[in-house]
Amino acid sequence: MIYNIAIDGPAGAGKSTIARRVARELSFVYVDTGAMYRAMALYLLRRKTDRENPDEIGKACQGAEISIEYKNKEQIVLLNGENVTPYLRTEEVGNMASVSSANPEVRKKLLDLQRKLAADMSVVMDGRDIGTTILPDADVKIYLTASTLTRAKRRYLELAEKGISCDLSQIQKDIEERDERDMHREISPLKKADDAVLVDSSDMTIDEVVNTILQIFREKVITSEKESEQ
Ligand code: C5P
Repeated sequence: MIYNIAIDGPAGAGKSTIARRVARELSFVYVDTGAMYRAMALYLLRRKTDRENPDEIGKACQGAEISIEYKNKEQIVLLNGENVTPYLRTEEVGNMASVSSANPEVRKKLLDLQRKLAADMSVVMDGRDIGTTILPDADVKIYLTASTLTRAKRRYLELAEKGISCDLSQIQKDIEERDERDMHREISPLKKADDAVLVDSSDMTIDEVVNTILQIFREKVITSEKESEQ
């Protein structure tokens, strides 16, 4: 059986940490779609594409081929054959990704890749539109969120741990701007799917969130197995 778990939510809600852990517990593959949008953004930044010019973004993105490989179960993102994974988690790339991901040409290029991965294997896929657009029939849909301040503090710690100097209030401002763009864009805006379970992780530990999702999955699978036996 192939199972798909979709986890959507705003920047810094803990999606990647949680999705990676849930995938490990279930021996599923973790698919980080944000990394694909970030690879596209890196390509555009390197080409010095004007982020205010949607036509230029739409044309430029045609030159980027994004693909995915797995090494020791970790996702590696290839941009025109180059492993760009180490360059993706900067604020500059994240902010560009939030702008360029609103472009229909960019989304079109990544949609098939994401659907194909989920059709071929059991995945925990995280992003913004997985439950609403990419995998509308996912077995479990989670909308993971947390307060803006909590999310900004998490991002701050993530960057600080990597030795990247940053400013908490600037990160909070970036997160608010990114939420605004992600939630109000015309194509595939970030929103909770009607059948997604809302999980607010502001006052939850990572273990608590992981266990909540595992329980939702197990209940769902047990119910559907019982239904198919009848
Ligand atoms: O999740 P992450 O911060 O890595 O995503 C970077 C940006 O890529 C987001 O701000 C969002 O605009 C975009 N994105 C998207 N759809 C996805 C995943 C990410 O639009 N499925």
